[in-house]
Parts: sequence; structure tokens; C-alpha cells
Amino acid sequence: MKKRKMKRNKEFGLFTKPSRFKVKKLVRTFSLVSECLQKGFAMHELPVINSILKVVLRHAVDNKVKKVVAVHLQVGELSDLEDKWMQQYFDYLAKGGIADGARLVIERTPVVMKCSDCEFSYVVDLKQEKAMVCPECGSEKSSLLSGREYFVKNLEAI
Ligand SMILES: [Zn+2]
Repeated sequence: MKKRKMKRNKEFGLFTKPSRFKVKKLVRTFSLVSECLQKGFAMHELPVINSILKVVLRHAVDNKVKKVVAVHLQVGELSDLEDKWMQQYFDYLAKGGIADGARLVIERTPVVMKCSDCEFSYVVDLKQEKAMVCPECGSEKSSLLSGREYFVKNLEAI
């Protein structure tokens, strides 16, 4: 078990000193299949970033990149993830690996509800304090289509 763990770390380059890498230019950007990590409720940055980093490292290894320069994330407006903390935790967890120093580019996904009565989908403005009612039929019954999810959209790597 211990042996296996060591090997994995080696694969991910966690033992490699960051100074070995020099960011010269962006050679390629590759897309990831939108990978939804978790559709959760109360979320805290550290475990979230940990799972995001795992996805990043796996795709980086699969694509044989030397260094991850930026990670584009799609984060729902309803999630309690704050940009500042996400970057700080990422810096901390990625230290010494191939994603060390990568910049997080965070894009927010709007909150979309689907009316339970007429199935109309609508974007909810979180700044408005009005009760959520369907703009089509006025129903207050609805379910969440998106807004809580977070996933890695793509990576910039060299
Ligand atoms: Zn409706």
C-alpha cells in the first residue's frame, strides 16, 4: 500500500522541484470533458480544491503536460466557494507538483430553476429578494437545474 502511494506521487510529479519548469509560452490548451465533481450542498474550499486538484493532475498526467499554467473552473453562484480561498488552497495543495503556481480562472454559473408546473426554465437573480416564481405561469414550485455545481472546464498547460 505504501509503495503504491509513492508511485502515484512520482507520477504526479509531486517530488519534482518547481524550479525545473520554466513557463515559456502556452503551447496548447486542451479541453476536459466537463467533469462534475460533486453536486453538493454545504461546501468548503479545502476538500473541494483537493478534488479539483486530483482531476487536474490526472488530466495533466494523461496529456503528458510539463506544467499546468491555468485551471478554468465553472462554479455555481449558489456554491459558497470564494475565489480568494480557492486560489489560496490551490496554491497550498499544488505546491511542488506540476500544477504549482497555476492560476485559477473562475467563471460563475447562474442559478437556473425549472418550474414544476409548466417546466419552464428561468435564471434567478440572487440579488433580488423576491420569492422565486415562474415568469411563465406564476407557480412557486420549482427545482434547481444548476447553480450549485462546480467542475474543471479546461486546463492551460505547457
Ligand atoms: Zn411555470
